[in-house]
Amino acid sequence: AAGPASYEGPLPTPEEMCATLNQYVIGQDYAKKVLSVAVYNHYMRLRQSAVMLDDKSLDDVEIEKSNILLAGPTGSGKTLLAKTLAKMLNVPFCIVDATTLTEAGYVGEDVENIILRLLQAANFDVAKAEQGIIYVDEIDKIGRKTQNVSVTRDVSGEGVQQALLKIIEGTICNVPPTGGRKHPQQEYIRVNTEKILFIVGGAFVGLEDIIRKRLGANQMGFGAITEQRDRKEYSEEEILAQAMPEDLFSFGMIPEFVGRLPIFCPLSKLDESQLIRLLTEPKNALVKQYSKLLAMYGAKLDVLPDALKAMAAEAMKRGTGARALRSIFETLMLDVMYKVPSMKNADTVTITRETVTGNKPAQIHQSS
Ligand code: ADP
Repeated sequence: AAGPASYEGPLPTPEEMCATLNQYVIGQDYAKKVLSVAVYNHYMRLRQSAVMLDDKSLDDVEIEKSNILLAGPTGSGKTLLAKTLAKMLNVPFCIVDATTLTEAGYVGEDVENIILRLLQAANFDVAKAEQGIIYVDEIDKIGRKTQNVSVTRDVSGEGVQQALLKIIEGTICNVPPTGGRKHPQQEYIRVNTEKILFIVGGAFVGLEDIIRKRLGANQMGFGAITEQRDRKEYSEEEILAQAMPEDLFSFGMIPEFVGRLPIFCPLSKLDESQLIRLLTEPKNALVKQYSKLLAMYGAKLDVLPDALKAMAAEAMKRGTGARALRSIFETLMLDVMYKVPSMKNADTVTITRETVTGNKPAQIHQSS
């Protein structure tokens, strides 16, 4: 007999999920809350038939799947949030890039391959995969009016949204086990996508303007009196938080697709102080990771506060958030990681402000 098809281990409460997210992700408090509630409800939904309720009139109520849309700038932690949640719940997880997907019959990746990835993450345990989480990145790039479609394929983006729509809302997917193109003689693996949680994310550059325009137009409708008071400067996140489905339609998402993503979750750009914290505070903070590596080579890492600040400032300039920060720090550490393992008496590696701004090599102190 088939085992119970629901997530089994003890389910952390939304508050507990949020606390765990806090250990790995800096800032994004609103997103953490929205995601914790949504993910908790999703896994409770999978158990709805197993829980006995006193109120029998609720038995016929079906809790529907609520997939999640994350909108926020590159390097703000969208992928990290999704990945951390999946890890916390110990469910299979995979990341797919929407821009590589095509409608069946075009050159590129069939949408079914998304499910194959999840199957691989679940070691081909179908029941397990059916309760996994899929993160679809760059969803904003498959908008109807996108200019980013590569010249090698003539796909409108709309077709990809249609294809994605089917698996997101729940369908039986026939997955060719070897991946690649479908072939009539192949044995398919049947996967029901009904219980799979889809988190889709994108930067949605320009969405803010669409929302601002709509809000502005509405304000005018109320007459000029309120105008002064409403002239308050909203942050990007505050603006995004007011997104309505119609804004996403204007952006190029098809209505049916937006309808399948009822939970909209905005993320904000990380500021300089958050970028500084990002280097040192999270459980797997980069400074901690390099400290551990260096400790294995018998050395200590000392990143001075000034150096952290300089790196964050440089990352702010590049505008790709935590991604820029990562690359700045890793470039800086390359020389150290090249030299230290062959040094017998390396003691402390000091990263100063000058190491960051002046391209001066990191100081490697040696014990005598
Ligand atoms: P996005 O999906 O929003 O483009 P990612 O989640 O891929 O960004 O983040 C890129 C890198 O920066 C990852 O290494 C991630 O660990 C780190 N990062 C991004 N945002 C945060 C954050 N808010 N807190 C901690 N680390 C972050």
